[in-house]
Parts: sequence; C-alpha cells; structure tokens
Amino acid sequence: MLSERNKGLPEKRGDMLDFIEMAMSRTDRAILISGSDREVCYVNPAFTTLFGYTLDDILATRPWELLAGPLTDIKVHERAQHSLYGETAFHDDLLLRTKSGDPIWVSARLEPVLDEKGQLTHVVALLADITNTKRLQVLQREVLEAMARDVPLVELMNSICSQVEALAPDIVSSVIAIDNEGRLRPLAAPSLPSSIAEFIDGLPVGEGVGTCGTAAWRGEVVVTPDIASDPAWEAYREPFMRLGIRACWSTPMLMRDGKVTGTFAFYFADERGPSAWHQQIVDTCVHLCGMAIEREEAKSRINQLAYFDGLTGLQNRASLRRRIGEKLRRDTGRRMRMAFLCVDIDRFKDINDTFGAPVGDGVLTAVGRRLSDHFGYQGAVCRLNGDAFIIALEDTDRENAARHARDVIAALLEPVQAADVTLPISSSVGIALYPDDAKDIDGLLRHCETAMFEAKAEARGSYGFYDPEARALNKERLVLGTALREAIALDQLELVYQPQVDGNSGAIYGAEALARWTHPQFGPVSPGRFIPIAEQIGVIEAIGNWAMRTACAQLADWRARGFDVPAISVNISPQQFRNRGFCESVAVCLERYKLVPSDLTVEITEGVMLEETPAVVANVRSLAEMGIRLSMDDFGTGHSSLSLLARLPVTELKIDRSFMDRIETDATAQAVVMAVIGIGQSLNMTLVAEGVETEAQRQFLMALGCAVHQGYHYAKPMSRESFEGWMSGRIARQVRRSA
Ligand code: C2E
Ligand code: MG
Ligand code: MG
Repeated sequence: MLSERNKGLPEKRGDMLDFIEMAMSRTDRAILISGSDREVCYVNPAFTTLFGYTLDDILATRPWELLAGPLTDIKVHERAQHSLYGETAFHDDLLLRTKSGDPIWVSARLEPVLDEKGQLTHVVALLADITNTKRLQVLQREVLEAMARDVPLVELMNSICSQVEALAPDIVSSVIAIDNEGRLRPLAAPSLPSSIAEFIDGLPVGEGVGTCGTAAWRGEVVVTPDIASDPAWEAYREPFMRLGIRACWSTPMLMRDGKVTGTFAFYFADERGPSAWHQQIVDTCVHLCGMAIEREEAKSRINQLAYFDGLTGLQNRASLRRRIGEKLRRDTGRRMRMAFLCVDIDRFKDINDTFGAPVGDGVLTAVGRRLSDHFGYQGAVCRLNGDAFIIALEDTDRENAARHARDVIAALLEPVQAADVTLPISSSVGIALYPDDAKDIDGLLRHCETAMFEAKAEARGSYGFYDPEARALNKERLVLGTALREAIALDQLELVYQPQVDGNSGAIYGAEALARWTHPQFGPVSPGRFIPIAEQIGVIEAIGNWAMRTACAQLADWRARGFDVPAISVNISPQQFRNRGFCESVAVCLERYKLVPSDLTVEITEGVMLEETPAVVANVRSLAEMGIRLSMDDFGTGHSSLSLLARLPVTELKIDRSFMDRIETDATAQAVVMAVIGIGQSLNMTLVAEGVETEAQRQFLMALGCAVHQGYHYAKPMSRESFEGWMSGRIARQVRRSA
C-alpha cells in the first residue's frame, strides 16, 4: 500500500522502474552509475548529450580513465575514492573531456550506494555542465587582474568585448560611457567599424535615443528586438542596419550612488532578444565594466585633486612640472624655445586683509579665468601658489615673451569683479626663457618667480627678465641691508668732512659731511652702495637725522675750539622730504647746538622734485623760509630741468664731478659746464664744482667764473681729526705767509 506521501506513483515495482527511467532520461543533468567493480553500468541521455558517449560506448569501462583528460587534476580521483569508500558523497568542479576531446567543466556530485551490510555496490554520479560559468569566472579573474595592472580603460573594455564575443559568437558587443554632460562616449566596440563609434560619440542620453541612449536615460535595461520598427531608432538605424544589425539589448551600468556611468550593449544579426546565456554574460560584465569605469573616475578625481588647483580649476605646479618637465627632458637637442611668465597680483595681501578671503578667492578665480581666456590654447596657464600664476608659452622668444608680458599686464588692469565688489588690480610679471635661463622646469619656475619679484621691487605693474647679475645684486642688497640696520643700531657709521674752498683765495667756504661705514667683515662700504640700500630698506631717514645731528654737533664743537668753518653741508635723501616733520627736526637740531640756519646747507638732488607732493613742496619752502641754504647736488646729471631750478628756492648749484675729468678735453662737457655756470649765475646761485682733482681744472673753472671748489686737489674727505689737522696746517701757512 502506498502511503499518502507516495500518492500518484506507480504501485508495481516494474512500473516504478519505468517511471524512474523516464525521469532519468528527461532530466538535463547528466547521470552515470558505476558498479562495485567501478565499471559503468548506466548513463542517461543527458550524459550522452554532454559527453558524446552512448551507453554502448561506455558500458563496462572505467569512467575516470575515459573522461579524465590531460588537464584534469588527477588528485581529484584519489580524493573521490577516499570519500566514497568512507561512505560519504564527493562534490567538486572537474575539468573533464568529451568524446571528441573537448575540455568540459562539470560540477560533479558522486553518491555512494551501500547494501544492507554497508558494502559499496554502486556510485551514482550527477554531472552538470558548468563550462560557461567557469569561462565567465575566468573572464572575471582576467579583468580583475588587468584592472590591478592598471591597464588603460579603453584597452580593458576592448578586451572584455572580445572575450564576450568569443563566449557568445552570435553577438557583437559594445561599451559606452556617459560623460558628465550626459553624452554617449563609446569606449569599446572591437567588432564594429570606427565610423559607428564616431556616429554615436556625443549623442545626448535621452528617451528615444536608440537603445543605449534610452537605457542610460531610464537607468534600466532596454531590449529592442527589431531596430527596423522601433521609433527610438528612427534617427540612428541606418548605419547599423547597413551592417546587418537587427536587434539590440542595452544594460545600464549603475554606480553605487545610482548614477549611470555607461551602457553595456549586445547587437544581434536577427530580430530577437537575449538568451539566458547572454543574460549570464551581461550579469558578469556589467558589474565588471561598471567597476572599471568607476575606478577610472576615481582615478581622474584623484588626478584632478593632485594636478589641478581646487579654487581656479587651473593646472597646478605638479601638473606643469609633469607635463612641461617631460617635454623639456625629451628636447635633448635644445631646439625648443619656451618662455615662462610668472604673473603675480600686486598687493594681493592687502585685498585679502581688507575685503576678506572670499573676495580674495574671487579675485584669484577672475584672474585665472582672464589669463586662460587670454591665452586660450597658446599657453598653459597654471596657478603656482597664493596669487602667483605661471604661463608656459611654447615657440616663444624673448621679444614675444615681452609682448605677452605687456599684454598680461594690460589685460589684468581691467578692474575685477569679486563677490559684490569691483576692484582695480595690477600685476607684475617675471620672465624666464628656455633654454637660455635654465634647462629644467624647476629652474625655469624658480627663475621666472625671481624675475617677477625683481620686477615688482623695481616698480609694481611692470615686467622683467630673469637676470642672474641683478639677482646677485639683490642678494648682496639683502645681506648688506641687514648689516646696515645693525650698524645704525650700534652707531657704527661715521662722518668724514671734505672742505669746500674758494679757488681764488684759498679761503674755506664750508665742509661737506659724508657718511662712512666700515663693516667688521666686509670692510669699508662706500656710500654709493649703502645709501641706495638704506633708501630701499627704509633706514635712510635714520641716517639723515644722524648725519644732521653729528654734523651740527661737529660744527658747534669746531667753533667752540676755534676752528673757523663757515658752514656745514649735509646730504639729505629725497625720501626724507616726504616726511612732514623734517623741517621741525632740523630746527630742533640747530637749536640744540646753538647754530643759526645759515650755518647749515642741505644738499638735495633733483630726485626730490620727481615727486612734487604737497609734503615735499612744504618742506623745501619752509627750509628756505627758515634761512637754511639749499644746494642742488650732482647738477647736470639725471633730470636737470631749468624750470625746476627756477621754481625751487635753491641757493647753491653743485656741478657734478663726472664733468671734471672731461672738462679739459671734451668740448661737450665744456659746453655743459659753461651752460650750468651761466644758469647758476643768472639765478644768482653760488656755484660749487665737485671733484676738482687738478690744477688745470681749477684754472679752467676759475676762468669760467666758478669760484668754489671741492675735490682731491684741495683735500679728500677726512675724519674729524684729519680735518682739524688740515685746518691747523692752513692756519699755520697763512700765519707764515703773513709773517
Ligand atoms: P656727493 O654728495 O656728490 O658727494 C661727493 C662725492 O664725491 C663723495 O663721494 C666724495 O668723496 C667724492 N669726491 C670729492 N672730491 C672728489 C675728487 O676730487 N675726485 C673723486 N673721484 N671723488 C671726489 P662719497 O663720499 O663716496 O659719496 C658718494 C655719494 O653718497 C654722495 O655724493 C652722496 O650723494 C651720498 N652720500 C654720502 N654721504 C651721505 C649721507 O650722509 N646722506 C645721504 N643722503 N647721502 C650721502
Ligand atoms: Mg653731496
Ligand atoms: Mg655730488
């Protein structure tokens, strides 16, 4: 009697066997049964289909010997025997071979059948074809390995497509990426002509844009079994149909955040949809391709971070170094001509401090944009750091570089809109040339930056070329500047005095106080060197005040000790005239040493009036009003202008010593000196000739009517003691002469 459980099953044993036989022959799972002698006693039709052997072929053979091929892992057999005799089932994936010798992967399950005594009577083997699964696994492993090796994306995608087409010879596959603007960008379609990729490239993702465009738009799988009749293919079908493509199936690749990064598509030559095997392939590949594209995007984001400036989106220093550096390295013959412009916004720190960082950022962004717009493809614009930009210009010589620098300065003069303010800006540009200034990118970047600093120091809003000599000078300036500050603080400067003498009578007219500096290590540093530095580093006023005090004190001292020095001349830098308190400090000084204004001569240069600011004009006027004598030093050099002379309350004109050595021989020098003397006389000024070294010069000057002389012919600048000695000697001579 059959139990409820067996309801519907044949009742007789014979019928039951037929029933089982039917099941065995209908299943697609291959079944092989061997006896206790390990020889085959049964195979089902699915086995025959899979391996090609009929029962007759294989009956009474040992299946292992028949099915194991050269690729089969022989240890598997031992393990199987071991577990079967241990009365347990054995399960593994095996690589076997068919009757025709083809390798075939099967998932095998071997079940031992035991009699009542526990003796192994049969082994039932259930075998399922897993070749395709295995092949997909291999594909997957290979793709992952390629990704690990950083194989370029396009190469990787092409290899996936080719492998897929080998797995499914009835299809043509393609991978299309979707760019940030939502456009189709074909990555791989090795079996399609490149004209198809060109045709697809740049099409916008959207409903009705073929199968791929629609799939990407919807973010879901789209099957087009008949391209010819699908309206979504209206505008696109022609080139595909010409190739014999009739159907398409596109699967979108989704990123973790749901964004569609691309599509994986199969094209078919007949009107149809995908098979289960196709589905299996796609399931594997969509995942792999998606991963590869996502990785590529991550790589390009990292690249963006590493090689682009976050604020302006321009390339950064690293990018420039990599790109241009490589170019320069390859230019072994030094045939290229390049110019590197370093552009720096003047007083950017003030903008940042005054308006805040957001406005500062806005200015940088605007400047970056303006530079990129200006140069377009001609030059690589990069943000170096802070407010400095670099423009690398190929095929550019010195002249063109200068032209570009002028253009940049002009382009950046246009006010900049940042946040809600409009700011006027200016910029300074430094230029370094390849290969003249440096052969490598680091050297060029350094040099153009240096050139920029030097241009800026000279005058904001200007440009300049890299100049190693100027650079050495700058360095010296820096070292001397520091030492000079220290010297002032430690009172290490001294004054020397040079007499000014009446060339006719030999009577002393006055003395010029000249600064001297002897550095403990550098030795004597001439005022010609340290005075300009003092002006640059802002200590010239301290020197001027000190010279004024010291000279006045000295004059008072000489007077007190019977040395009759009629007046003392002090050199005052134009810069000091900008200080409104200057006259006041002069008055205080005179007062302190009980001197009268006519005891003091202030030597100024024409530079004073280059800047005719109210403060300068006021100082000059009040000095004159106080009765202090003003002397125009170095006249005849620089910007000598008669109208200036006429406007200023100058009482003395010093003819520059550069005329002296030429005065006897050079007609032009003679003419200039004659003219200067004429002017001085007509304006009722005292003329003082500097640098008189010879008797001939003295006579020449006397003949022209210039009576007061200063120069080595009479005396060199001398220390206080030497000056006193010189004075004493003269007095003694006069006494002797008169005796
Ligand atoms: P300067 O005011 O025109 O001074 C005259 C310069 O000519 C001095 O050079 C002096 O030594 C030099 N000299 C005088 N007679 C002769 C001569 O016969 N032959 C030659 N070859 N040279 C002669 P020094 O002392 O080197 O000063 C150079 C310049 O430095 C001065 O030119 C002046 O412009 C500036 N300077 C010197 N001391 C001071 C100072 O205390 N303050 C300021 N602001 N400038 C100063
Ligand atoms: Mg002078
Ligand atoms: Mg002079």
